[in-house]
Amino acid sequence: MTRRVHNFGAGPAALPLDVLEEVQRQLLDFEGTGMSILEMSHRSGVYDRIHHQAMVDILELLGGGDDHVVLFMGGGARTQFAVVPMNLRPPGAAADYLTTGSWSEMAFAEAKKGGAAHELWSSAASGHSSVPARGEYQVHPGAAYLHYTSNNTIAGTQYTDLPAAGDVPLVCDMSSDIFSRPIDLARFGLIYAGAQKNLGPAGVTLVVVRKDLLERSGPHLADTLSYAKMAAKDSLLNTPPVFAIYIVGLVVRRLLDQGGLETVSQKNDEKASLLYDAIDSSDGFYRGHAQPASRSKMNVTFRLATPELEAAFVKAAAEHDLVGLKGHRSVGGIRASIYNAVGLESVKALVEFMGTFAAGRG
Ligand SMILES: *Cc1c(COP(=O)(O)O)cnc(C)c1O
Repeated sequence: MTRRVHNFGAGPAALPLDVLEEVQRQLLDFEGTGMSILEMSHRSGVYDRIHHQAMVDILELLGGGDDHVVLFMGGGARTQFAVVPMNLRPPGAAADYLTTGSWSEMAFAEAKKGGAAHELWSSAASGHSSVPARGEYQVHPGAAYLHYTSNNTIAGTQYTDLPAAGDVPLVCDMSSDIFSRPIDLARFGLIYAGAQKNLGPAGVTLVVVRKDLLERSGPHLADTLSYAKMAAKDSLLNTPPVFAIYIVGLVVRRLLDQGGLETVSQKNDEKASLLYDAIDSSDGFYRGHAQPASRSKMNVTFRLATPELEAAFVKAAAEHDLVGLKGHRSVGGIRASIYNAVGLESVKALVEFMGTFAAGRG
């Protein structure tokens, strides 16, 4: 039998087993074509259906109507850090940023390269242990957009409510919590996400943008970096990452079949509660990094008394097939990423291990 571990890695991360099995079944002969999806023209009818169905399903899952369009782009979420201001910030305008972790700091740094950007709020002083409440910052009227990171993958914090942006378009890096809970798409100007956390394999970046904002993409932009040009060609302007898009399509279809984002979020709530309860009831053996009101349901970060004890924890966990638990190299500690594809049984196995480990070392 194939061996499968409990994978708590932050990304590229666990994929649903039934999706992987489906990919395996179809790998050599895709639906009777006698070839693999990997070998097929992106201009073929077969691929065209996969591509457009994925777009339709993504909008359905997000509850979107006709106001937004789905784009598949390259370069990962980090390329979007630069591409967002290139497209959405008109010459002379400024954009607002909430910086709540390493990724949003990088997004802010990219935005400062080509024009004006303002940091409205930063959690740097607290080691990025919280996200702001709505009254804690003031968006500039007339800002090109407000950028925030809905889930901070490294620090393990997450917004519960949408930031208050008024009429200013809300732009969100949703790389590590997209499709983990329902959202009100109508309130977003643009969402982007690298696929490899909660969506599919590495290689494609999902962008969902409000159609009226496409007018802002200037003619000087490279075609493949222009939201307007990509939208006009349904993201088939050049060769898209066909295999990654195909798998994203399967993941999204599966979420729809399971009942959509309401169902997904109930499961994620249950998983996160179980894990935070284990931390909170450990008499201080495990100490959560995030302030309770800002805790992430996707990336659960915690510390033990010393780095040596943390290293021993990671090593012993791996011996129990619990892998990917080492915190990001920039912050240390432990991080359990419990994305959609990580099942309740994996979280239960981790919680049980945490109890045994604490009893042995406490
Ligand atoms: C992983 C991550 C990124 C970087 O994604 P790439 O696709 O590697 O560029 C950006 N933002 C967030 C929130 C992330 O978790």
